[in-house]
Amino acid sequence: VRFAGMTDTGKAAQEADVSGGGPLVVLENVNKYFGELHVLKDIDLTIHRGEVVVVIGPSGGGKSTLCRTINRLEPIDDGTIRIDGQPLPEDGKELAQLRADVGMVFQSFNLFAHKTILQNVTLGPTKVKKTPAAEAEKYAMELLERVGIASQAEKYPAQLSGGQQQRAAIARALAMRPKVMLFDEPTSALDPEMIKEVLDVMTNLAAEGMTMVVVTHEMGFARASANKVVFMADGQIVEENTPEEFFTNARSDRAKDFLSKIL
Ligand code: ADP
Ligand code: MG
Repeated sequence: VRFAGMTDTGKAAQEADVSGGGPLVVLENVNKYFGELHVLKDIDLTIHRGEVVVVIGPSGGGKSTLCRTINRLEPIDDGTIRIDGQPLPEDGKELAQLRADVGMVFQSFNLFAHKTILQNVTLGPTKVKKTPAAEAEKYAMELLERVGIASQAEKYPAQLSGGQQQRAAIARALAMRPKVMLFDEPTSALDPEMIKEVLDVMTNLAAEGMTMVVVTHEMGFARASANKVVFMADGQIVEENTPEEFFTNARSDRAKDFLSKIL
């Protein structure tokens, strides 16, 4: 299966020229407050087509908020965010389309408990994109096959393991044929033995050229799949570098201190 939004620029192809895909998501001077709390401070970040950006940093640093601003689950107070050159829409049909273009996978799988796995995956395409049911089901089954849980299609979320539920959540996001996928600590709620099966799905997506923003503490994934590591703390991007440079040669004391605690 080739996913919509994929390009031929996997990590290997990009090593020569990471910007080869052209900018897809561009944040400029983004600022966000929760009341008095300044949670995003002058964020400038460009995510190129086919690029995998891993965001790491201490808890409370603004990583989740950053992800949530990109599909406008959180409005911003200042600056601009553009996807494919277009500023984020504020409401209406355009906002629904944006949410389709920007797939999101959360730590808590957020599946609909009273719908089957297959229904969870077909719901967005049939309701939001008006895809005919048969076509939506066909693509959903391809995606469930792809994430390794086609045999679970008729079950309800509670009947699946955490790893299977998270893979269903990934399939659900992919069903909308997103241009970019955001993962916010997708393996943090999983038992250790289930982490790999989810990371494997993400690794394959990355290798096939999906544009991805991944908040994670899984440094193995970052080293293997990231084109760029963004280190965030206190609402700022403190460092942005290749994984090779970041893990062997972090520049800031903040990043060195963080790495010494997690590695
Ligand atoms: P991270 O994902 O890096 O742990 P978050 O983006 O979740 O960081 O949080 C950044 C800061 O914003 C934290 O201080 C957090 O408590 C605060 N925060 C997050 N969401 C809200 C909210 N809805 N209302 C108020 N404060 C929030
Ligand atoms: Mg978070």
